[in-house]
Amino acid sequence: MAELVPIPLPLLLRRAFLEYEREGKIFDLPKSKFFRGFPDLDLSVRFHGHRAATPLGPAAGPHGQLAQNIVLSWLGGARIIELKTIQVLDELKIPRPCIDAANVGYNVEWSQELKLEQSLGEYVGAAMFLEILKASKLLGDGIPDETVFDMSAGYDLAGIRSPRVRSWIASMKDAAPVIDELRASLTGDLAPYRDLPFPTRVSDTISLSTFHGCPAGEIEAIAEFLLAEMDCHVCIKLNPTLLGRAEVAHLLHQVLGYREIQLHPPAFENDLQWDQAIDLIPRLRRRAAALGKSLSVKFSNTLVVKNHKGVFRDDLMYMSGPPLHVLAMTLVRKFREAVPEPIPISFSGGIDAHNFAGAVALDLVPVTTCTDLLRPGGYGRLFRYLENLAAKMRELGVSAIPDFVRRHRAAAESAESAPNPRYRWERNRGVPRKIASHLWLYDCIACDKCVPVCPNDANFVYQTSATVIGYDNFELRPVGAYRRVPGGVLRIDKARQFANYADACNECGNCDVFCPEDGGPQQHKPRFFGSLESYRKHAGANGFFIDGDTIHGTIAGAAFTLALDPAAGRARFDSPAAVVTIDIAEERPISWQPKPPAADPLLLDMLPYLKLKLLLEAVRDPRHVNFVNVGGRS
Ligand code: SF4
Ligand code: SF4
Repeated sequence: MAELVPIPLPLLLRRAFLEYEREGKIFDLPKSKFFRGFPDLDLSVRFHGHRAATPLGPAAGPHGQLAQNIVLSWLGGARIIELKTIQVLDELKIPRPCIDAANVGYNVEWSQELKLEQSLGEYVGAAMFLEILKASKLLGDGIPDETVFDMSAGYDLAGIRSPRVRSWIASMKDAAPVIDELRASLTGDLAPYRDLPFPTRVSDTISLSTFHGCPAGEIEAIAEFLLAEMDCHVCIKLNPTLLGRAEVAHLLHQVLGYREIQLHPPAFENDLQWDQAIDLIPRLRRRAAALGKSLSVKFSNTLVVKNHKGVFRDDLMYMSGPPLHVLAMTLVRKFREAVPEPIPISFSGGIDAHNFAGAVALDLVPVTTCTDLLRPGGYGRLFRYLENLAAKMRELGVSAIPDFVRRHRAAAESAESAPNPRYRWERNRGVPRKIASHLWLYDCIACDKCVPVCPNDANFVYQTSATVIGYDNFELRPVGAYRRVPGGVLRIDKARQFANYADACNECGNCDVFCPEDGGPQQHKPRFFGSLESYRKHAGANGFFIDGDTIHGTIAGAAFTLALDPAAGRARFDSPAAVVTIDIAEERPISWQPKPPAADPLLLDMLPYLKLKLLLEAVRDPRHVNFVNVGGRS
């Protein structure tokens, strides 16, 4: 199984600059989907005292984990970035697949997959990336850019107080040493950015995840620790179980019709209870104010349910998407009715382009999204959220969010009180269509869906020529003679091909869900690694690594290396059976060294040679910029 390997900041930057210049996109997001602001509107909001240029954010999850994900969220218009939840247990093995967004939205990806130090590097690197983007003026002037990075941490007091997590939070609040380390990597064409005055306070706000039955007393103690000792503003992220089992069952089963969803009773017993919450939160809010900090709540975390689908191996899974929207909105309404104090609320639960403006109208800050971004279009879907918000603001004749909230409040609150039919089971039971064909290394229907649905931008397009290559194989004799024997045909039907950058792929399975063909792009398309080390460790049956004119490749479990020497017109082809020097133009062996136990005659199968050569030439082709062909530039 592949492991996420963070991509170095210089590589991310070089790719972004080149890709924008050559193809008008960054990390596969076309510039037409970049948020550049609306000249007649001010979408800014305040979050824990900080100004953010929009109320939109990715929810703590797959879209806030790697630096490129954060940049993609930002390009789409997110300005309050809820970073993926960190915790002291940073070597957990998350089962794969871990995301099933076919319709409702389930996952078992509840924790970070990177080590704490790696997460720190990703978040600080992303913040620096955005500063460099601004300084480069690549996207022009005047883009509303005030951005808040919001940390997210879980899941118990001992873990959060541990020296590692404490030091992690401190390093986000003063990231100077990490910034200095990353500065030093900005060399060559990136040297002009090395001395930028990167803000060292990457974040001073933290959302506390209260998953897994964190009791009231412990939540209070963690909040106290974060407010008083870590000197952070705090958001308490609450669970839908707060509604109580009877109400959740009623809403899910009776009102919305999701009868197949089975609740997990212990979660309702162990999680924070309603009466405890409405006692605890105002008290914490007052305590925060006394410390000069702010405290908010978030509705809501995902809902833990029994695994009724069999996509995941675990017994439990976490529900998001349309039904969660109704649960989370119900919590917002009930909480506001029960707690008269104006406690800021942020929101997560089934947000998409159609209901985003409605949530903003309810004065929820930020309004975050996740499941919707896992669907075709990916981060490109964010732009419509803001366009629709802008249209609603213009309809009401307002130009700023506070006025929008005031004008919209009465209508929006009454409209949300009865769930819209769009959240019902009948409207959310369809699954992506499959077409009964299986993926292989080359060719597919080239629908392009696997590229944007990947939160990590791990899948990419490369270009080749549609071609039919008839080839001979060779019988190699010990004395240096060979004999041509019938080979076969390598047929490539499409010029547009797809590959996977395995270092950025955690095998979450989301592209498999949306790919119309079977097998999963992340398994059957060529998987490229960023280093020989990660190739050797994780290639499995299908893996490649390109280093200059050399390609290492494992095809169907057999390992090969092909080193081209274009000046000499020769290639060194290292296969499990022999090391062979090949005349590139004539596609025939020149000399060979069999590997024991040597067969006599030895058969040289030219198909792996042709596949490797084709991949090497096509993936390096600079017309399509990707993480493979931009590596190694300086
Ligand atoms: S390539 Fe597919 S499996 Fe890999 S991270 Fe992206 S969506 Fe998940
Ligand atoms: S691999 Fe699947 S999702 Fe990707 S382009 Fe091909 S058919 Fe579409």
